[in-house]
Amino acid sequence: MSKTMKAIRMYAPRDLRLEQVPVPQIRKDEVLIKVMAVGICGSDIPRINELGAYISPITPGHEFAGEIVQVGSDIKNFKAGDRVTVPPILPCFRCEYCEQGHYALCKDYKYYGSRNDGAFAQYLAVPEPNLLKIADNVTYEAAATTDPLANALHGVKRSGFKPGDSACVVGCGAIGLFALQYMKAKGATTVVAVDVNDKKLESAKNCGADVAINGLDDDVVEQIAAATDGGADVVIDASGFPIAQHNAIMATAKHGTTVLLGISHKPLELSEKCVDQLMRGEQAVVGSWNSFSSPFPGWEWTHGVECLADGTIDAEKVITHKLPLADVPDIFDKIYKKEIFFNKILFLPWVD
Ligand SMILES: [Zn+2]
Ligand SMILES: [Zn+2]
Repeated sequence: MSKTMKAIRMYAPRDLRLEQVPVPQIRKDEVLIKVMAVGICGSDIPRINELGAYISPITPGHEFAGEIVQVGSDIKNFKAGDRVTVPPILPCFRCEYCEQGHYALCKDYKYYGSRNDGAFAQYLAVPEPNLLKIADNVTYEAAATTDPLANALHGVKRSGFKPGDSACVVGCGAIGLFALQYMKAKGATTVVAVDVNDKKLESAKNCGADVAINGLDDDVVEQIAAATDGGADVVIDASGFPIAQHNAIMATAKHGTTVLLGISHKPLELSEKCVDQLMRGEQAVVGSWNSFSSPFPGWEWTHGVECLADGTIDAEKVITHKLPLADVPDIFDKIYKKEIFFNKILFLPWVD
């Protein structure tokens, strides 16, 4: 095996370089993964185009799948040749939140692509608790989307969704599209999709949405109510826009639940009518953060890979690009300049 590999290194926001770097050395409790597919997460876009990461330079990327090619001496349940995907958090497993199984709230965690080198590279070293086998019929491309799928499943779980509920998803990026595919497959009566982009609404219809509504319409709330017999039992906001969050609460049924999942970094003001409806309708508003539960990495991940294997989820309906690693700098530049339409963008580090 070669001692060096291709990797994308970020030196500063918008300064990404394709470089030749050493292949990581594995510890006894790690395996070496040959990265076959890695996605751009919604969170990578502000990190790479504006904010930067916690270390510099860094190899970004945390949504990936690949093949195990080397195994440390302490590894028990995996071998070379296994096909795996990887939850990207490295929790401390010691703090009070980790002890309660709330790994996303860990006080001292590491994370591929933001606090540690990530997967915009040909190889990555990963410890055993972060390995999850994928079925033979699941492609590496599909498996690389397990992270946004697990985020969607965590949001659905937080909503209390059950078969027979009506559902609405606001924001049709990868997480929103996975949430609506899942609820449709699991017996939602009606699934409504809302987005401001008509192409994303087309993807939502392709993913099984019964009704697709443009979020720029004045009467979004009325349209959702009309489609769901007065309000949806579950509304998941995956957009993070305050107006959308407000509409999500307004479009929720009595005794229904609104899930705030999209990151906004903005204040949210509720109108008098909204607060009144929230109280009188005994509605719940809950937050959803990341994708982990106990035992690590949690139901979101183990069920996510099952859903990819049994066809509950079709990841191809969410993937819009499959590109070589060398295209990373150009794609982030195009995203920055708003020059491309995209949903899930994947890079294939072994394809030129
Ligand atoms: Zn992600
Ligand atoms: Zn912890």
